Amino acid sequence: MRSIIKPARLRALFSSSPLEHTLRIFDAVYWISMILEILIRAPYQKTWKDGTKTVQRDSIVEKVLLGLLAVFMFVLPLVYFITPWLNFANYRLPDWLGWTGIVLIICSLLVFWRSHYDLKSNWSPTLEIRKNHTLITTGIFAYIRHPMYASQWLWVIAQPLLLQNWLAGPTNLLFFIVFYLLRVRAEEKMMIDTFGKKYLDYKASVGAIIPRNFGKPN
Ligand code: SAH
Repeated sequence: MRSIIKPARLRALFSSSPLEHTLRIFDAVYWISMILEILIRAPYQKTWKDGTKTVQRDSIVEKVLLGLLAVFMFVLPLVYFITPWLNFANYRLPDWLGWTGIVLIICSLLVFWRSHYDLKSNWSPTLEIRKNHTLITTGIFAYIRHPMYASQWLWVIAQPLLLQNWLAGPTNLLFFIVFYLLRVRAEEKMMIDTFGKKYLDYKASVGAIIPRNFGKPN
């Protein structure tokens, strides 16, 4: 039974403890994906730090939301992984759901990589317009306006399938619903203030996270 598993999951990953084989795989996939996300983002993070910003809308709400995102995506999963403290909140799903989580998180990483590749130096963690900012409407942005957030949706759906714990898994999904609604509203307002009709036309023809125009990119 999962609830009687005492040792920390990190130790379990490398030992012959009673943690089930498939659960170790799901844990490992989550952390490998996290490392891959950090590696995908690293070069863009550097460009962002070095670049000049002309508009910055990093309000207190923004900062709190980004801080909470780190808690639900990283801190709680880490506590779950390296300590036994959250074991009381474990649950166990059928294995096929865990494997579905693996497929979803791989899709998430692909979309995450492609959105950075297309956005290039226009990417920023907080809401900003940079010097020489260009409106990107090609690549994956020809299909959806918010591919990076689409990749995050895939991640937050995968997370409770991989990390089978009420605190480390589904809390990020609940949080992301709020994050997404607030972030997209503020971001699109900033884009309309900056690009005007160009962004309004883009918004009218391209879906937010679900493609409207498959097969006929802009
Ligand atoms: N919402 C996008 C981008 C997230 S990164 C996505 O989900 O992929 C956030 C930054 O991207 C914002 O500060 C904004 O300046 C920039 N941005 C968002 N959409 C953009 C676009 N179509 N072209 C250029 N920059 C964009």
